[in-house]
Amino acid sequence: MLCLMTQTKTQMKHRVRIAPSPTGKLHLGTARTALYNYLYAKNKAGDFILRLEDTDSERSREEYTQDIIAGLRWLGLTWDEGPDVGGPYPPYRQTEKEEHYQNVANKLISSTYAYHCYATPEELAALKEEQSQKGLPSRYDNRGRNLSKEDHERYEAEGRVPSVRFRVEEPQEIHWDDLIKGRINVNSSDLGGDLVIVKSSGIATYNFAVVVDDIDMHMSLVMRGEDHIHNTAKQLLLFEALGVKPPQFAHAALIFDKDHKKLSKRAHGEFVHIDAYRQDGYMPEAIVNYLVQMSWNPPNNEEFFTLEQAAEMFDVHKVSKSPAVFDPDKLNWFNAHYIRELPLDVVTNRARPYLTDFDLSQYSDDELKAIIAIVREGVTKLSQVKANAAFFFADKIDISEELQKEALCDDSASLVLKGCLSKLSDIPFGDAAGAKAIVSKVGEEAQAKGKKLFQPIRAALQGQAHGPDLGSVISALGQSRVKSRLEAALALCKKN
Ligand code: GLU
Repeated sequence: MLCLMTQTKTQMKHRVRIAPSPTGKLHLGTARTALYNYLYAKNKAGDFILRLEDTDSERSREEYTQDIIAGLRWLGLTWDEGPDVGGPYPPYRQTEKEEHYQNVANKLISSTYAYHCYATPEELAALKEEQSQKGLPSRYDNRGRNLSKEDHERYEAEGRVPSVRFRVEEPQEIHWDDLIKGRINVNSSDLGGDLVIVKSSGIATYNFAVVVDDIDMHMSLVMRGEDHIHNTAKQLLLFEALGVKPPQFAHAALIFDKDHKKLSKRAHGEFVHIDAYRQDGYMPEAIVNYLVQMSWNPPNNEEFFTLEQAAEMFDVHKVSKSPAVFDPDKLNWFNAHYIRELPLDVVTNRARPYLTDFDLSQYSDDELKAIIAIVREGVTKLSQVKANAAFFFADKIDISEELQKEALCDDSASLVLKGCLSKLSDIPFGDAAGAKAIVSKVGEEAQAKGKKLFQPIRAALQGQAHGPDLGSVISALGQSRVKSRLEAALALCKKN
């Protein structure tokens, strides 16, 4: 056994991490894993850490790193430490530790747990081809295990650059008690042969760097997607060789759509990324609430909870073993709920970026809030606010010919509009109930009810036959807009 370091003091603290590879934007599945790790840490007064597994230099991109950081922060999943002192912390990055991985690999070589393998990519491709022709699963044949000193010298003289491989003894049963899935057994013969831990380019592979980091960072639990189960088996062998007690493991079921297809960018487009939801006006509170309950039921079956409330109740043992099903309708339902229930100030500020086509300065802050209070009742995401709020900002209301015929063509329409013009002039801002009472009074006097009463007014004020509560619309538009719109519609009435 090779003793890398002692794990005594800090082992006692619960420490978990999310370790995304910045080879794409923050995926919903990664966000869910991050969330469960975060909840676990908060529930146990432990630490939650972000570590970017960015050693794949060809596929890793800084823009993805930034997207992951922004997405996690947007969801409220802030991490508790980083390479610098003081928050908000930058993440840890594996690329900052390449030399360290090399040193640990060298220790494994000197203790004969690992060796240099000189097989070229062409030779490995030929091996794969041969195995596939024989109908065998592809695996490394451990050919580099017992090279003689002369073999090494010959390959070096040929200019071959070796990779470092870790010995996977076969057969042996690797097992662990998974906190979500229970006892898991993997046979080492199914792991594809001796494992590359450092590529010939000198870069540590995922399975190796992750173990070195989980040791260095004193992780107490590794919680990730179940697609990593075979990696966990490989990593357990590495922990053993390094003489370190492994953390606990928990593997969450993958996320599928309603047709049992795995959630992927290829099949589902941009809406597998958190960023798409951020841009489309989803509330982070809704995404968090939806993702939390996707594979976990709170003890009291409550439907709505904040991150803090979920953290108080979270129990990893209660996370479901069965695949999670992503249901966009249910997410929309949560989102509509949060848009209506979050403080109006918050929703108004979040709605502003969707209203940049309008001259917002024509309304005061309080008036804009009144508009959002009306519009938020009818949307499931903030990107819809623009269309629903447009009539508040229009210089002039376009009333289609069809609506003119339907709403403005009979005698009572002009009576209704005239009545409103004379009576609505002194409705103060915010008095929706007063506006509504006046409309009823106008109706009585013009002997117009229902459609006959409301349609001419809605057509005049909004250019639509239906819409949100009329009293609220009148009081939010303000007297001068109401007056000019009623006059314009009355002119059309006369024309018709
Ligand atoms: N980097 C891995 C991924 O993005 C996660 C590895 C882990 O959590 O150990 O899938």
